[in-house]
Amino acid sequence: AVSAQGIHKSFGDIHVLRGVDLDVHDGEVVCLIGPSGSGKSTFLRCINHLETVDVGLLSVYGEPVGYREERGTLRELPNKEVCRRRSEIGMVFQRFNLFAHMTAVQNVAEAPVRVLHKSKEQAYQTARELLETVGLSDKADCYPSSLSGGQQQRVAIARALAMGPNLMLFDEPTSALDPELVGDVLAVMRDLAQSGMTMVVVTHEIGFAREVADRVAFMDGGIIAESGPTEQVLTNPSHARTRDFLSKVL
Ligand code: ATP
Ligand code: MG
Repeated sequence: AVSAQGIHKSFGDIHVLRGVDLDVHDGEVVCLIGPSGSGKSTFLRCINHLETVDVGLLSVYGEPVGYREERGTLRELPNKEVCRRRSEIGMVFQRFNLFAHMTAVQNVAEAPVRVLHKSKEQAYQTARELLETVGLSDKADCYPSSLSGGQQQRVAIARALAMGPNLMLFDEPTSALDPELVGDVLAVMRDLAQSGMTMVVVTHEIGFAREVADRVAFMDGGIIAESGPTEQVLTNPSHARTRDFLSKVL
């Protein structure tokens, strides 16, 4: 689903990504772990067309991110095409960024109506079904301000799913939540993984990674320093840096 080869990305003088290699196969759940500032969010943002890659090849479902092939050469994508491709990827952030003036169901139905031109009736029906799958059927008509952080995050997940993505990216989806609210959000993500969704999850929840991830990738200093089957990376890492990191978060 995702193929990254030798990805570099700088912001001015800061060389953040220094040759990221990572493949994510269809239906696979990959957890991305690593110290603060190692480039995890930047890499996710590249996958979702929120940043452009300086060097390297990054493709999602066979299409190069930010470019399209025209007669053998790569051309920059027009904005409209970027939006279309981004709409096929769901992204959930640490902060839920729900629209404050809309109810939960309105938040979930908004993009399908506006971007996918679904009928209101159909979009709202799907939105209510999605809210049910994230355990919030009774909160559909509530505004974000009256929901807990965990509930808001589950609305955000439902909102991302409403676009019918074939890939979901999560950037520390539970790290802004009170500890007692984390479990409900992780449970929704676990169900999603079991439904076969392809997922890349940046998280410090090692327990979640151990249970749900097919593979774990450890990012350090702008590269994937180590990746492999979950059990192997978490219990028997081959790099000292990985071991060191795990001893701090476990
Ligand atoms: P954390 O665990 O703290 O979220 P991270 O691994 O997600 O860290 P990134 O957010 O990708 O790390 O940031 C990596 C580096 O890139 C940091 O030094 C950050 O300051 C820098 N950086 C990220 N985005 C920008 C930007 N838009 N402009 C300048 N520097 C940036
Ligand atoms: Mg980050």
